[in-house]
Amino acid sequence: MKIITLSILNFITCISVFGQAMHVGDPKLTEIWSPVPKIISPGKTVSDPPSDAIILFNGFDGSEWVHKDGKTSTWKVADGCLTVNPFSGDIQTKQSFGDCQLHIEWRTPEVVVSEGQGRGNSGVFLMSRYELQVLDSYNNSTYSNGQAGSIYKQHMPLVNVCRPPGEWQTYDIFFTAPQFYADSSLKSAARMTVVQNGVLIQNNVELWGAMQFIGVPKYEKHAAKEPLLLQDHHNPVSFRNIWIRNL
Ligand code: MG
Repeated sequence: MKIITLSILNFITCISVFGQAMHVGDPKLTEIWSPVPKIISPGKTVSDPPSDAIILFNGFDGSEWVHKDGKTSTWKVADGCLTVNPFSGDIQTKQSFGDCQLHIEWRTPEVVVSEGQGRGNSGVFLMSRYELQVLDSYNNSTYSNGQAGSIYKQHMPLVNVCRPPGEWQTYDIFFTAPQFYADSSLKSAARMTVVQNGVLIQNNVELWGAMQFIGVPKYEKHAAKEPLLLQDHHNPVSFRNIWIRNL
């Protein structure tokens, strides 16, 4: 294919594209016919997994998850959800992921105990280290970049669209993994877009590094694919309908 600049187009009226002569006024000049997108089937609703999704939790099978030390998950699987077993530790997927689209539904306890960061705290950690905060942020004051929907200690959400405690909420996450050079320095930062309960709350934000509770986040080289992790922050937060698509 010949690469043609607009200035050149000013002087010619007939060019060759894909071996075919085309007039510069021909609308076919800017049509792409190959390749074509792969065909997949959508879910019944936007919350249901499309045909190419990997199901990480379907309501009754918790076998995709293990504790960080590799031991069988002791989080509770009952009533269609996966619930934090407080003080048992974080759990992570057996499979690893890089660029992805993730759907996950979560519910903080209906009975409110404690306040601030102690109320319905958990977290969705992309690549085991980039935390999208889960918290009961319904009439619950805390630091803005630590409330539900924040990239923890980095970016506050654009709005607070939280439902009351005890109600199910959705996160749809679009994640671009960071890339590293061979010398371990950062080539490109991670990026995240998040839709909570149908509303955009993170718009392609650039992450500053791995979640850091104290101090400034920084990047450390890791594998191109890493497990997805759910946080045990000692509160019985529940999850359901977890599916992911590799991008
Ligand atoms: Mg958390």
